[in-house]
Amino acid sequence: MDLIKRKILIFFISILTFSNLFGIDSSLENRINREIERLKNKLITIRRQIHQNPELSNREFKTSRFVAEHLKKLGLEVKTGIAHTGVVGLLKGTQPGTTVALRADMDALPIQELNDIPYKSKRKGVMHACGHDVHMTVALGVAMVLSRMRDEIKGNIKFIFQPAEEGAPPGEEGGASLMIKEGVLENPKVSAIFGLHVFPLLNVGTIGYRPEAFMAQSNRFEIEIIGKGAHGATPHLGIDAVVIASEVVLALQTIPSRQIDAREPVVLSVGIIEGGNRFNIIADKVRLVGTVRVFSKEMSREVKEKMEKIIKGITESYGASYKFQYVEGAPPVHNDPSLTRESIKVIEKIIGSKNVILLKPQMVAEDFSYYGVKIPSFFYFLGVRNEKKGITHMLHTPYFNVDEECIPIGIRLMCNLLFAYLEKYQ
Ligand SMILES: [Zn+2]
Ligand SMILES: [Zn+2]
Repeated sequence: MDLIKRKILIFFISILTFSNLFGIDSSLENRINREIERLKNKLITIRRQIHQNPELSNREFKTSRFVAEHLKKLGLEVKTGIAHTGVVGLLKGTQPGTTVALRADMDALPIQELNDIPYKSKRKGVMHACGHDVHMTVALGVAMVLSRMRDEIKGNIKFIFQPAEEGAPPGEEGGASLMIKEGVLENPKVSAIFGLHVFPLLNVGTIGYRPEAFMAQSNRFEIEIIGKGAHGATPHLGIDAVVIASEVVLALQTIPSRQIDAREPVVLSVGIIEGGNRFNIIADKVRLVGTVRVFSKEMSREVKEKMEKIIKGITESYGASYKFQYVEGAPPVHNDPSLTRESIKVIEKIIGSKNVILLKPQMVAEDFSYYGVKIPSFFYFLGVRNEKKGITHMLHTPYFNVDEECIPIGIRLMCNLLFAYLEKYQ
């Protein structure tokens, strides 16, 4: 009998230790689930409404109004007009504690949607092809659920709705860096931030992540090769910018393939070649525009120096000249190691460890990284793929779509992550 009693006691102690370890108690989790279940249809309607009305970077006027009104109705303190169209909502818990943030981006892309769906984009040539409609819906859903659970919240939750993740229009500032400059991480001071991105290579029900270096830094370069025009029949009287540019394009590829340690992920892509104006004229100028993806500031500088050496060497040897511009973009997305470890424990408990996938570093970029430079951050990919429903298309394409089952999953994960964080760092 005694032995049985002891076993029962050990069983309960281990359950308690187990739930404590993950930082959330199951009654809270059940309440979150019930709230989400209740809101499910409303959330789909919200996502579709946002999807039908996409707006480009720094022009998210109606989207911003929609979000702000929604947050106000939930009783949050709302600030608008941050970094142009950004919105910040503050949900105050009734118990004291720190402030944690959840970020969602708001902009769409200049793509004509080709999906045959009842909630297809109503704006010609503009589409939520990067899933930011889903990111906003998840964040609004979290606000809807947690605004009904204030009594359980130890501290505050800041909802950051950020414009221009895809990049501000030329000549304009915008996105995460401008939000930070305008004080989004202050008053109250934010101690950590969470974010997610939909990802069509992962099945709905799964998530992907990587501690530390997760997504690349994206740089943009522009090269102008300046030669000398001549008749197409007498190239020796000119300096052929097309031939020189061709050599430059090929030689640049030797940077990742022959000059950088093969274990270091580096991509160099020329996306635009422009030059010349007639079949029988030697082109005097060629413009090359492209991108460099790296995982550190040092590597970014190293690639820049190597590029310039190649461009200088080749153009000089032909008697041509050049202009070279190298603009560093958002830094790499770096997931804080301990925050990642703690977050993954929470996520594994909710969706099961087999659905939590450790990814390789991604060469795509995200300006969420700017927040991570300032405070601990955790960013992960939310699976949205469903082959049976034909949902397989990549981001930034006219057929991109998500399995909307990802929305309640995203909300569930975020609610639990925020609670677990506030519980641990109160
Ligand atoms: Zn995008
Ligand atoms: Zn995106």
